Amino acid sequence: MRHPVRGMSLRGSRFSSSLLRWFQSERRSFPWRRSRTPYHILVAELFLRKTQAKQVAPIYAVFVRRFPSVRRLDKARVRQIRSAVWSLGLATRAQQLKLLARQLMERFAGRVPSSEHELLSLAGVGTYTASAVLCFAFGQRRAVLDANVIRVFSRYFGLRSQKSRPRTDKRLWQIADGLVPNQKPREYNWAILDFAAKVCRARHPLCSECPLRKTCWWFRRVKRSGGIKPAKRP
Ligand code: SF4
Repeated sequence: MRHPVRGMSLRGSRFSSSLLRWFQSERRSFPWRRSRTPYHILVAELFLRKTQAKQVAPIYAVFVRRFPSVRRLDKARVRQIRSAVWSLGLATRAQQLKLLARQLMERFAGRVPSSEHELLSLAGVGTYTASAVLCFAFGQRRAVLDANVIRVFSRYFGLRSQKSRPRTDKRLWQIADGLVPNQKPREYNWAILDFAAKVCRARHPLCSECPLRKTCWWFRRVKRSGGIKPAKRP
């Protein structure tokens, strides 16, 4: 079998365009996807950390009504913020939001910055959150790379990270950034997140219904060995 990374650019563009086609009819709908306000998107991304999207959706809607701007969040007491987010878990989340609002007021006049190094300087913002804000709020051509996206890459392209924490693997980030199309970067990133949740799932991926199966490295490998779908998480 050919090495999976070879021929990546052609396979990458097929992968991106197939995902975008799939997304047209299969997209999930979340309230933060209807917003272009960087503050709202930053809040949503912080909520989504270690929490399922369907759990975040109702809390997010109430939160942005109650604290519609960085200024309002900055003026709130930690206990008020905590009462708005307690059901999401993570005891430190309220304090982190309060600190974030303070930093945004003091250093950016209440705006969310649009550069990676400034975003990374904020409390609780790591590479994934910064990339998500740059793409979803500012429309920049940036990848989002979480454990679910890495799973799709590992199956479809046969990619493996040598790092103990693949999310920190610069090579994977470079490959992921290279796959984001010039047009519709937001839709592409939503598409891969939705595809990982609905089709290329951690357990029981729906290979027989998958629009990418003809070019999927894992599917072809399993088929050759007599199986019909990935038996376990690669
Ligand atoms: S064929 Fe199966 S393993 Fe390959 S991308 Fe589709 S769902 Fe994932």
